[in-house]
Amino acid sequence: MVNLKINGIAVSVPEGSTILQAAKLANVRIPTLCYLKDVQCVGSCRLCLVEATGARGLVAACVYPVSEGMEVRTNTPRVRRSRKTTIELILSTHKKKCLSCVRSMNCELQKLALEYNAEEDRFGTDHDLKPIDDLSASVVRDNSKCIMCTRCVAACEHQTIGAIGPKNRGYSKVIGSPYDVSLAFTPCVNCGQCVVACPVGALYEKSAVAEVWGAIVDPSKKVVFYTAPSVRATLGEAFGLPVGTNVEGRMVTAIKQLGDVECFNMDITADLTIMEEATELLSRLENGNPTPMFTSCCPGWVKFLEHYYPQYIPNLSTCKSPQEMFSAVLKTYYCRKNGINPDDLFVVSVIPCTAKKFEVSREELGGYTDAALTTRELAKMIKEAGIDFANLSESEYDLPFGDASGAGAIFGATGGVMEAALRTAAVKLGGDGAPLEFKEVRGTEGVKEAEYTLGGTTVKIAVASGLGNARKVLDAIKSGEKDYAFVEIMACPGGCVNGGGQPYVHDEVRNNVDLKTLRAQALYDYDGERNIRRSHETPAVEMLYNEFFGSPNSAKAHKLLHTKYSKREKY
Ligand code: SF4
Ligand code: SF4
Ligand code: SF4
Repeated sequence: MVNLKINGIAVSVPEGSTILQAAKLANVRIPTLCYLKDVQCVGSCRLCLVEATGARGLVAACVYPVSEGMEVRTNTPRVRRSRKTTIELILSTHKKKCLSCVRSMNCELQKLALEYNAEEDRFGTDHDLKPIDDLSASVVRDNSKCIMCTRCVAACEHQTIGAIGPKNRGYSKVIGSPYDVSLAFTPCVNCGQCVVACPVGALYEKSAVAEVWGAIVDPSKKVVFYTAPSVRATLGEAFGLPVGTNVEGRMVTAIKQLGDVECFNMDITADLTIMEEATELLSRLENGNPTPMFTSCCPGWVKFLEHYYPQYIPNLSTCKSPQEMFSAVLKTYYCRKNGINPDDLFVVSVIPCTAKKFEVSREELGGYTDAALTTRELAKMIKEAGIDFANLSESEYDLPFGDASGAGAIFGATGGVMEAALRTAAVKLGGDGAPLEFKEVRGTEGVKEAEYTLGGTTVKIAVASGLGNARKVLDAIKSGEKDYAFVEIMACPGGCVNGGGQPYVHDEVRNNVDLKTLRAQALYDYDGERNIRRSHETPAVEMLYNEFFGSPNSAKAHKLLHTKYSKREKY
């Protein structure tokens, strides 16, 4: 251990720790911009400069190691002057459209500028407006607001994609894609991890808010919303509620207050996915079709496979994602049952994800979803409508797509799809007394493996989240080192609870709070409280098979709930 003092506070930290890590233990806040826990630590923005004995000049706390007897000062006039000047220099090249910016009141630069009394025009305003890249179906890039922190670049590198990176040198440096092409023409998988890493309004999702408001006030349209499993565990953060608060009841009330709309529960088609996927897996095992079977509910992962491992496309489950299953059910079964012309039904999914915006545009999925809103966009609509979210009463989802299983809800966390599948498979293969919880697949480690014997059948499984981890699993399968029956992969580290459409969280929270674990815990707690915890017991799923699909993997189910993917020749 190394003993040092920070602003006079004695603290003892393991050798090799940085000043920033020691400051955290001493409860001293040091501002950061380019540093982001688990994503990037490069010491380039110079906001975390401090005075430290033994150092020549100010040092960057995020990278500077502690030493025995060191005395650190984080709040001297020299430190404050340096930080203020750095912020003012950043502001001199920043497009200051703060009143209308998507990050206004939630911008890390804006917050620091206020804290350090930075003058926005001290060094004049010296920048050329750069073109906005909005050709991608999911992510918009506005380089005039970019402050060159490179957090987005690091996030994309963790995903092993590298669709964006620094170009040119010195003052001409910008973030962009190779050969100056739009993000739309790169292998970007639309995961949005760059968006949630960005401290300012330089990256944001392609908004569907205006389109949804338009449908709500259009008398010729009937509007239905459905919400993805993880949204209940994250939406509250946009209204100041603690990380990991389940706001399902308030969320449903708020959606119904947006206009004359119905609100359904996407956990039901998560349950439907399990019915279809489990049947497909058993059929693959019996008929010798390619295994391991990979889950297909994450559109970021599906696009990654199409680009980088097309040889494994036959291993991908043919099931559509829960989003695309729900929209197909609504535009067919629901419309028919209620005498609605499908053209008059406007289907809005609320999702944690920017990749699902891209998914909506995929022709092979049938075009059943009219608009996909991220959790952030739903929060924006609720704020625009003047709804006092924190004090809302709770409502239930509308019928017939209200009640679902806890298994459907845990789809929002890494390992959740696998656990849901195992719950149903255990009953199908083992009968009564089958286990309900499979805790080996829970938790936020990037790769998890387990082996289960269910009713005499032994299955080896793996779960990966984050595409860097997906690559490790695929390479191990490719080399013959690993052999699994079933593999769950989610593109975002930690799964959808950490999706690219989830509420923005400032670095000072992200660096100190385990978002993924707290959000996932909210889903596991919710699951634990449900009466129904297995997908095949969900009444709406039974209803859909009895009244419409017949049985899992039937011809009708194949037509509406399954699809085919192919190698991407172009982006
Ligand atoms: S959306 Fe994902 S893949 Fe695309 S640029 Fe951002 S981090 Fe990279
Ligand atoms: S786009 Fe955002 S995250 Fe990327 S370098 Fe610019 S400011 Fe940083
Ligand atoms: S893990 Fe979830 S949020 Fe992330 S890309 Fe996949 S489906 Fe979207």
